[in-house]
Amino acid sequence: MTRRLVILGKQGAGKGTQCELLTERYGVAHISTGDMLRAAVAAGTELGRAAEKLMDAGELVGDELILGIVADRLEEPDARAGVLLDGFPRTEAQANGLFALLAPETVDRAIDLDVPDEVVTQRMLERGRADDTPEAIARRLELYEAETAPLRKLFADRGVLVTVDGLGTPADVHGRIVAAVEAAP
Ligand code: AMP
Repeated sequence: MTRRLVILGKQGAGKGTQCELLTERYGVAHISTGDMLRAAVAAGTELGRAAEKLMDAGELVGDELILGIVADRLEEPDARAGVLLDGFPRTEAQANGLFALLAPETVDRAIDLDVPDEVVTQRMLERGRADDTPEAIARRLELYEAETAPLRKLFADRGVLVTVDGLGTPADVHGRIVAAVEAAP
């Protein structure tokens, strides 16, 4: 069965760990726009140069650029087995772009990994990535609320949203996600 999964959640909610477990379980391609952008920055491509400052400041990279890289990535052979979209979509324009790219198919499940702000802030400070300054963390949380949290409604309206408690061990959270993905809609 081809699965098209989206994982929503603030930075630090544990998406990375859960994505590893889910790609292993379902054999889907892990498509992380953050990873693709970091690779572009490291390679010094035009895209990387355009994205670097925005990423360091915790701002969002433009929808057109993001939709372009996702459209290309969905054409890769491994995406045929199914996809797990991580860190994308982050805005309503990206969500609508995704629905257009997938049509006539659609997203099977959007997993909303729910973790309180205080917990993700603490985790991100401990993770200490170059773009994890307190200012950038606060800005990303603000943008998440303003731009990405409203996408829950878009997925809920399509009957594909599942909210999963993201607190607990990785194995506990994984178990909850699998139960939610496999439950009848
Ligand atoms: P992430 O690894 O998903 O936390 O992404 C790291 C950074 O890359 C974000 O703070 C944004 O600056 C940028 N980014 C990643 N994915 C997107 C996206 N879908 N739309 C806009 N910016 C993104």
